[in-house]
Amino acid sequence: VDVFVGPSRRRWTLHANLLCHHSEPLAAQLLGDQSPDALSSNGHSPSLGSPPEAPLTLDLPEEDPAGFELLVKWLYQGKLDSVSRLANDEQKYDYAVACHKLYLLCDRFELRQLKNQAIDEYRKGLSEARLVPDATELNEIYRASPAESAFRKLMVQIAARQIMDPDSERGADQYRSCFEDPEFAVELVDAIKLGTGGRLFEDPTEGGACSWHDHSNGGSCNTKAKHKQGK
Ligand SMILES: [Zn+2]
Repeated sequence: VDVFVGPSRRRWTLHANLLCHHSEPLAAQLLGDQSPDALSSNGHSPSLGSPPEAPLTLDLPEEDPAGFELLVKWLYQGKLDSVSRLANDEQKYDYAVACHKLYLLCDRFELRQLKNQAIDEYRKGLSEARLVPDATELNEIYRASPAESAFRKLMVQIAARQIMDPDSERGADQYRSCFEDPEFAVELVDAIKLGTGGRLFEDPTEGGACSWHDHSNGGSCNTKAKHKQGK
C-alpha cells in the first residue's frame, strides 16, 4: 500500500497486511468490507483479493511524517528507540516532539501499546532535556489532544508546575493564549489544587480591614487617625 503523509505527501510503500495486523481501523479503511483475515492469512502475497490494477493507497494529509517514520520503524523493526540514546538536549526534544506525533497516529489507529510507549518517550525526552514546550507549543498540543487524552492532562500539569515554581517569577500571564479555551483555565486551576494537595486560604471576611478600604493617601485608617489627633 502506498501511504502519503503530511501536506508534502511524503510517500511510504508498506505491506498492507502488516498495517492491518496491528490496526483494526486501518484494516477497515484499507479493506473496506473485506475481512482482515483475507490479508493476514495470506502472508506476503500482494494479492489482496481486490483487482491488482487498483493499487491500495492511504492518504494521511493531517498526520506528521516524523511521527509516521517512527510508526514504520516500529512495524518493521518491532521497537521504538529510546530517547536516552540521543546525545544533546535539542535532539532529545525533537525526538520527543516526533513521539507526540506518533502518539496522535496511534490514537487514531488504535495502536495502544505503541501509544503508551510514545508518551513514555515523550516524557523521558522532556525530562532528560530539561525542557518543556513554551506556551504556544503547549497550546497547540493541548488543542490537538482530545478531551480525556493523556497529552491534554500532561500539558495542563506542565503549565501548572511552571506557574507554581517558586524559583520562577513568571506567573499565569505566560499562558494567556491558552486561556482562550476556558476549559484549559478550569483544568489548570484544578491541576494546581490537586498538585498542592489543596490549601485553605486566610478567610477574606476576617481581619485586615484596611486592605479593603479606599484611602486617599494610600495609608490606613490608623495613620489618618493619628494625623488628625496630632492636629
Ligand atoms: Zn482603613
